[in-house]
Amino acid sequence: MPEGHSIRRLATLLDRLFTGRTVGASSPQGRFSAGAAAIDGWTVTGTDAHGKHLFIELEPPGGGEPRFVHIHLGLYGAWSFATADGGTPHAIGAPRVPGPGTPASGDREGSPLAGSPVGRGRVSSSQNAEDYITLVAGGTEDGQFVPPEPRPTVRLRLTTDSVAADLTGPARCDLIDLGQKDAVHGRLGPDPLRAADARADGADDDGAGPDVEGESPGADVERFVAAVRRTRRSIGELLMDQSVIAGVGNIYRAEALFRARIHPRTEGRAVSVKRLHAMWDDIGELLRSGVELGVILTTLTEDRPGPAPETWARAAERATEEEADYRWYVYHRAGRRCHVCGGTVSGGVMAARTVFWCATCQKKLRAR
Ligand SMILES: [Zn+2]
Repeated sequence: MPEGHSIRRLATLLDRLFTGRTVGASSPQGRFSAGAAAIDGWTVTGTDAHGKHLFIELEPPGGGEPRFVHIHLGLYGAWSFATADGGTPHAIGAPRVPGPGTPASGDREGSPLAGSPVGRGRVSSSQNAEDYITLVAGGTEDGQFVPPEPRPTVRLRLTTDSVAADLTGPARCDLIDLGQKDAVHGRLGPDPLRAADARADGADDDGAGPDVEGESPGADVERFVAAVRRTRRSIGELLMDQSVIAGVGNIYRAEALFRARIHPRTEGRAVSVKRLHAMWDDIGELLRSGVELGVILTTLTEDRPGPAPETWARAAERATEEEADYRWYVYHRAGRRCHVCGGTVSGGVMAARTVFWCATCQKKLRAR
């Protein structure tokens, strides 16, 4: 399942492609027919991400109350983007698709798709590439973009005169109003990416990128700390609870706990305020790195022989087995050697998903 950094990258990509544009909307599969019909011909005015929830904001022609497409990809959701010229990352991220926030000519580094797989078909998730995004070739007829025939499983198709975006297999795709959107935010815990944006917004608001209405970052970390410390539930379970912290999935959970050297079965109430502040900051750093690189890279430079972080997004697709193995400390590495102590990495089920840890490096803390 895509974790918070992926949803943020999708929000940024959709923002670049659609914000300010009037869109055609349809539901070839039929399960979002009424919603799609309601927003067909509306203008996209922004996107937003909170944890694993994605929002596309639209306004009716001539203005009026905005509505939001609320999407949760779940385990199987994916987007595919078709552009006129074959849908290279360059075409997606660069001025061929002009719009607010479009990077300067030739700038591929800032593309949300930099480092993502190109072409039909999904890349094996063990490679940790962006297998929830696929780029496909559209076509042109008399110089006009002609989107490909949608597959019958497409829940929502959004089109402009230069791009078609198809959403398939989401756990959720609903049309909601502002009050309902606020209710979704209310149910979700703090998201370290939104907290960082709230800080950045105060300092430098250029109006680009996803809309963010964050509380003060201090309030966010305090909510996280309080939610963890009030319970005997394990920290491994709490990090997967989207009402405690939003955006963390199975990879970030295992890796953040390793980096903090805390055993996943430690009770929430046993983790000190100081450690939780450090963990919040660390998860925020990991998520921001994921947004930037498009892959999850959690090992410190000194703990791996692979390339430097800035080259990793490219290296990820053709990484050697050794480089891939050094991307993470413990996630999906049960039975292998710990990169830090040389011991054996363990695995066990927690919050319905397998959690991984090193019993030597990670201590089970006791409540005082
Ligand atoms: Zn170890």
